[in-house]
Amino acid sequence: MFEIPTNTKQHDETRQGEALLLENDPKKSNGRKLYIESYGCQMNFSDSEIVASILLDKGFETTRDYKEADVVFINTCSIRENAEQRVRNRLKEFESAKAKNPGMVVGVLGCMAERLKSKFLEEERLVDVVVGPDAYRDLPNLIEKVDEGSRAVNVLLSREETYADISPVRLNTNGVTAFISIMRGCDNMCSFCVVPFTRGRERSRDPQSIVKEATDLFKAGYREVTLLGQNVDSYKYETVNFANLLEQVAQVSPLLRVRFSTSHPKDITDEVLHTMARYENICKYIHLPVQSGNSRILKLMNRTYDRAWYMDRVDAIRRIIPECGISTDVITGFCSETEEEHQDTLSMMDYVRYDFAYMFAYSERPGTLAAKRYTDDIPEEVKKRRLTEVVDRQREHSLQRLQTYVGKAHKVLIEGLSKRSDNDYCGRNDQNSMVVFPKDERYHVGDYVTVYAEKCTSATLIGKIID
Ligand code: SAM
Ligand code: SF4
Repeated sequence: MFEIPTNTKQHDETRQGEALLLENDPKKSNGRKLYIESYGCQMNFSDSEIVASILLDKGFETTRDYKEADVVFINTCSIRENAEQRVRNRLKEFESAKAKNPGMVVGVLGCMAERLKSKFLEEERLVDVVVGPDAYRDLPNLIEKVDEGSRAVNVLLSREETYADISPVRLNTNGVTAFISIMRGCDNMCSFCVVPFTRGRERSRDPQSIVKEATDLFKAGYREVTLLGQNVDSYKYETVNFANLLEQVAQVSPLLRVRFSTSHPKDITDEVLHTMARYENICKYIHLPVQSGNSRILKLMNRTYDRAWYMDRVDAIRRIIPECGISTDVITGFCSETEEEHQDTLSMMDYVRYDFAYMFAYSERPGTLAAKRYTDDIPEEVKKRRLTEVVDRQREHSLQRLQTYVGKAHKVLIEGLSKRSDNDYCGRNDQNSMVVFPKDERYHVGDYVTVYAEKCTSATLIGKIID
């Protein structure tokens, strides 16, 4: 997989395998330590915060060292074959720790657990518990079963579960930006995608609990929330649609920035775009995965839009929110894709000029519509070569887009110190581009500043604070 830049928050390559560490409450402690690490999309990282919240409530403490843990959980991703391979390799590393501590409970959570179900127990002797994304409330009970000597599986998917009443615990973040899950599952059946099988039917969380979570985060000092869902535009709770929800969250405070991801080209409405335009604190940035620029391939992918429709949505964004940043996902070498059809993806990229993109070579996933109906007939080296062409084109566009931001003032939320130097702050502009600038004692993490962009690298704007 290639991404430019590698860290745009929705799928943060630098966070893959990150362990969650929470403040422990000695009063509640049951003396057992939980280690949990997460892979894949932001939804998984948010789910790990829910899992930790459930187990903390039962007296567990968290640790960052799996070797000293009593319960080791790995929250997994199934989206591409290499994501699953990564998890298998990681499980091998847990083997020696378990050999030293036979009482250690090893659990696999998330999409791979849902996809493989009890097969996991046959394939990986070390695994004691397999738990799908809708069964986390059952975890304390499942751990108990393992303590009693059995191995346990719960991969039931639910039509209702949204974990709305569980407050996720967020302590190893920057304290400024947070994610809020607004829905779960997906009802689209993109033929390449395993998500509808691993995360079940789409369901929306009630808006009051979302607004309350945003309000609580704001009171705790957070200044940016990202509303998460596989297809946020199909959010629907009684009479509240996504545009209404966005507005309600934007009204929590003008000082709370609101972002969201992911938008589906078939569903994104002008109403959402007008709501974005109306509120200064809704960031002018849309992640709009195109997957392919060719209508025949889009049909095979079952994306339910074609090239012209996608272009029309991009035109609407540019018309209603001229300064909007746009990013995308692209798949190269989908079943039967010809060279001309691949060229259509490149020309679509030229049309839109994305700010950034996540780009992948097609990876066939067992059980998906594409695996059943089509032959994965594009040779690996052709998929890779097309991917390189897409990545190179995106690199040019990312740079060009950043260059258009140079020489301008940007409102930036200070997120922390820059990775390279403790003398610099970093944060993002409205369009989600990373901005680095010298520290100024008058401003702190969580403050908004106006930064004049003086120059850029391929992924970062560099500037200074202006008053
Ligand atoms: N729900 C979002 C959407 O519809 O755009 C994204 C879901 S998925 C977690 C993120 C991205 O992974 C997809 O947009 C797609 O580009 C990529 N992806 C999904 N399945 C894939 C596969 N089988 N092979 C390669 N890339 C895949
Ligand atoms: Fe997968 Fe399509 Fe749903 Fe996105 S919209 S999660 S790509 S099925």
